[in-house]
Amino acid sequence: MSTEVSIRYDQEIPAGEPWIHEIRRGQHFRIVDLEGNQAADTLFYNAHDYEDRYSAQATIRAQANIYLTTGSRLLSSKGNVLLTIFADTCGRHDTLGGACATESNMVRYALEKRHMHACRQSFLKAILEWGRGLEKRDIDHNINFFMNVPVTGDGRLTFEDGVSGPGKYVEMRADMDVLAVISNCPQLNNPCNAYNPTPLRVLIWDPT
Ligand SMILES: [Zn+2]
Repeated sequence: MSTEVSIRYDQEIPAGEPWIHEIRRGQHFRIVDLEGNQAADTLFYNAHDYEDRYSAQATIRAQANIYLTTGSRLLSSKGNVLLTIFADTCGRHDTLGGACATESNMVRYALEKRHMHACRQSFLKAILEWGRGLEKRDIDHNINFFMNVPVTGDGRLTFEDGVSGPGKYVEMRADMDVLAVISNCPQLNNPCNAYNPTPLRVLIWDPT
């Protein structure tokens, strides 16, 4: 980042913690994978209409690609462009794998994993604290930034070792006012966080 850019917002999200913040139209939003191999499970809403939120189907259909990277337009359920990926030093982000939950942890790993902290709990904590009418049913499709979830030749999803590394980032330009919610994924049962959740950094600024 150029030193002339004045940072408006700069925050570290500790390992396993949620984060929620608004991004204004035209602002740039960067998520930095500080130590590498850390999944950033992310929800986006139209800041003025929470029923209008990120849609994986609309986004995948419009770009004819299941992976997200520079140039990907993140579409909403009502067909609006929420943000556009402007720069990406990681190269690939997932939007098929969903967010980890206590239920999926039990089904995928073991019954006793039920009590481990999961992304859906972090999302719920963030939106309930935010208030303004958001509740559990509003947790919809998410993006897994920095997460490597390749689709195999026979159509299966696999959670693979991360393609990200220390300091890699993804940067978006907001095409409208949006509300962003991140769960810095606490998952310990698959390699999406290299079995060691680490902090993320988020930056928001007005372009000069
Ligand atoms: Zn997770």
